Amino acid sequence: MASDPAAGIAGTWRRKDKARGNSAVLRMDRDGVASVTDPESGDSLAAAPAGRVAISDRVGSIPRRIEFADAGTFETPDNDAIDRLFYGAGIHRRGFVHELERFRPRLVLVVVAVVALCFAVYRYALPVLVEVAVAVTPPVVPELMSQSVLASLDGSVFAPSELAAERQSSISRGFDELKALSPRGLDGYTLHFRKGGIIGPNAFALPDGTVVLTDELAEMTDDDEMILGVLGHEIGHVDLDHSLRQLYRAAGVTALIMMIGGDIGSGTEDLLVQGTGLLALSHSRTAEREADRKSVELMYRAGKDPAAIARFFELLRDRLNDTGTSDFFSTHPATPERIEETRRYAEEVMNAPDCCKPE
Ligand SMILES: [Zn+2]
Repeated sequence: MASDPAAGIAGTWRRKDKARGNSAVLRMDRDGVASVTDPESGDSLAAAPAGRVAISDRVGSIPRRIEFADAGTFETPDNDAIDRLFYGAGIHRRGFVHELERFRPRLVLVVVAVVALCFAVYRYALPVLVEVAVAVTPPVVPELMSQSVLASLDGSVFAPSELAAERQSSISRGFDELKALSPRGLDGYTLHFRKGGIIGPNAFALPDGTVVLTDELAEMTDDDEMILGVLGHEIGHVDLDHSLRQLYRAAGVTALIMMIGGDIGSGTEDLLVQGTGLLALSHSRTAEREADRKSVELMYRAGKDPAAIARFFELLRDRLNDTGTSDFFSTHPATPERIEETRRYAEEVMNAPDCCKPE
């Protein structure tokens, strides 16, 4: 559609309040006033100085829109004619600069909005995605993950436990009592004794309910209740899906979206199956506090000393001075606040017998 500039540019006129358009002609006079007229009647539909109309950007062959502020919009597919008409008069250029100046504060706003969005994704979307991922994870995933972690530890650092059989069975009996009171029940948790080797005194839980206790930790005390306090804490980590959450948090947004969408990429699969670094990921302080409280409640309900875990932390704190560090200590710092808080909660639980009913 080529137009003769003198004859004007053919297009469609749409009044502001009307959806339907009528054919119209756009012209520019010598004073730089753009006007739209009805080609049949010759009636003027709109007119404004060219600098006052808004011209849409040229994008491929998309029809150009020329907006006359209050009157309406002229639309034409003849992009070249529009460029000649406005650009030739030097008005388009001015209009463009004018646009840019109007745009600058908006650009700043866009940048601020993008930064805020990125922050919000990490602050709010990631935790939500983690929760969704935990909820949609089929039980086979934590099972596979846990089995492979235990197998690789058995193949590298662990040796069969050398803990006396009577000690193992008395700890196992206590563990059974705790299991019976826990949401997953007797089959939901399995206790494994291992000689820790370089891992030293340690106890940890894997996401499928596998709980590992090293000889070195059991040998720190003759008091089974203290050990059970630690195992109650590990049961708490399992019940609250702490390991799974921690792993998903480390996996990041992309992996989570892929996983929730059912598209487990090879990277995500590796991460999930190998449980890489599952042990290296230390729980957040909040997770530790929650697990401590679970231990207190569980021990209380089992008729045992609810402050047993606090006593164990005190032991750890005192031993640290002469035996150096322990792995359990590095992921479970026995800070004075933690000991105090656990003791306080144990008091609270003992004084409010109906505080922690079975779930
Ligand atoms: Zn813990």
